[in-house]
Amino acid sequence: MSSDCLFCRIASGEIPGDIVYEDDELLAFNDISPQAPHHVLVIPKLHVATVNDLGAEHADLVGRLVLCAKAIAAERDIQESGYRLILNCNGHGGQTVFHLHLHLLGGRQLMALG
Ligand code: 5GP
Ligand code: ZN
Repeated sequence: MSSDCLFCRIASGEIPGDIVYEDDELLAFNDISPQAPHHVLVIPKLHVATVNDLGAEHADLVGRLVLCAKAIAAERDIQESGYRLILNCNGHGGQTVFHLHLHLLGGRQLMALG
């Protein structure tokens, strides 16, 4: 837990989040500025700043992060229409909150990447 980290503060309950899933190690909540009809952020409760800070010891955690997003997509019935999972890293990746978070976006046609 990092007291100056926004997502740690949401994970600890200090700042309210629109929570859609929680277990011992993961939290999922609706993005405050949704870019699609479904825009959920899935985070580990453990403070990891960026993808660059992940090591082999986090492999299971990252796997569960993806599986959690998949389960939320299924719950929302968007698994067949499709969705996008994004991990932004640092400046060029567009990361603005430095606590690892997986974006789940769906419910509309998303633009091709390039
Ligand atoms: P990034 O750009 O770092 O990949 O994504 C950060 C995301 O966090 C953005 O989509 C932004 O809208 C979202 N966000 C920023 N502050 C808050 C907040 O206080 N609550 C919630 N639920 N989302 C936030
Ligand atoms: Zn944090």
